Amino acid sequence: MSPAALHLSGVVLPEGGHRDLWVRDGRWTAEPVPGAETVARGGWLLPGLVDAHCHVGIGPGGAPVEDPAGLRGQALAERDAGVLALRDCGSPVDTRALDDEPDLPTIVRAGRHIARTRRYIPGLAVELEPEDLVAEVRVQARRGDGWVKLVGDWIDRSAGDLAPEWPADVLPAAIAAAHEEGARVTAHTFGADALPGLVRAGIDCIEHGTGLTEDLLGEMAARRTAVVPTLVNVENFPGFAAAGEKRFPAYASTMRRLYAGSGAVVRAAYEAGVPVFAGTDAGGGIAHGRIADEVHALCRAGLPAEAALAAASWSARAWLGLPGIEEGAPADAVVYDADPRADLDVLARPRLTLLRGRVV
Ligand SMILES: [Zn+2]
Repeated sequence: MSPAALHLSGVVLPEGGHRDLWVRDGRWTAEPVPGAETVARGGWLLPGLVDAHCHVGIGPGGAPVEDPAGLRGQALAERDAGVLALRDCGSPVDTRALDDEPDLPTIVRAGRHIARTRRYIPGLAVELEPEDLVAEVRVQARRGDGWVKLVGDWIDRSAGDLAPEWPADVLPAAIAAAHEEGARVTAHTFGADALPGLVRAGIDCIEHGTGLTEDLLGEMAARRTAVVPTLVNVENFPGFAAAGEKRFPAYASTMRRLYAGSGAVVRAAYEAGVPVFAGTDAGGGIAHGRIADEVHALCRAGLPAEAALAAASWSARAWLGLPGIEEGAPADAVVYDADPRADLDVLARPRLTLLRGRVV
């Protein structure tokens, strides 16, 4: 059954003009549809929020979530926060069944994390040695929706500190293999040492990126390499440091230093012209549905409110290949009573959510 014809009017973001819009067969049109039901009059229309880094299928403590109700609950928590599209940045679970549910957000997947043997959270990643990296990148590129996720650095217990997972010389072929498969590549990094190799090998995005330095930010801006800072997760760094203090004091001190500089890194990235997107890293230790907290955190770090909002909405959608509120596009929108560009607190109170032309 196709959704009912709907009518909305309000200020459409990011353009900002007041418009009347109709929904026919689940898609936007500027052409009036006779008999359409008016579901919003006035207000601000956003093409939905985007959580550009979260995980559907990872539960509290890092255990895989296998039951359909648990997976659905994670996606619904995102949707209830206004997230109509999310980039799943690595999941141990096949969540394809969720794609058949019309009331859940669009999921853009990265397949499974690819990590070096025993160098990530146990049970989440495909773990392998560098000689097998290229072949596995191809496998995960085909498993995902246009993204491959590498673990770029992690604690090296023999060194007692963060260290790169991959020799820099294997990265260009791995990233080229993903690109040949039509996928982009991103990597988890907390520290500084893995970053030059990843960026110079042509990676498309860096997750967390707390170790980014001015010279690399300039290179990323030139290459249009994005960063998803996940400041909601970076708030956990002091806790990671405390947990590791006894056995790994160097790691603990690294994590505290990275935490102290995290806001300045985000501001420097934005000022250098690096594309910055909002992701919460929900799944595992962080609850789903916290995108508004990440937008606030980006703003506190120094992004103007409108840029922080763009990083969690229209800019992120364009980056993921998803349309905004435009003729013929699936009718996704979140309607707010006030202008979220002027007051980000508005994000906590969506008035109406429209997903593929249905009020949810
Ligand atoms: Zn993550």
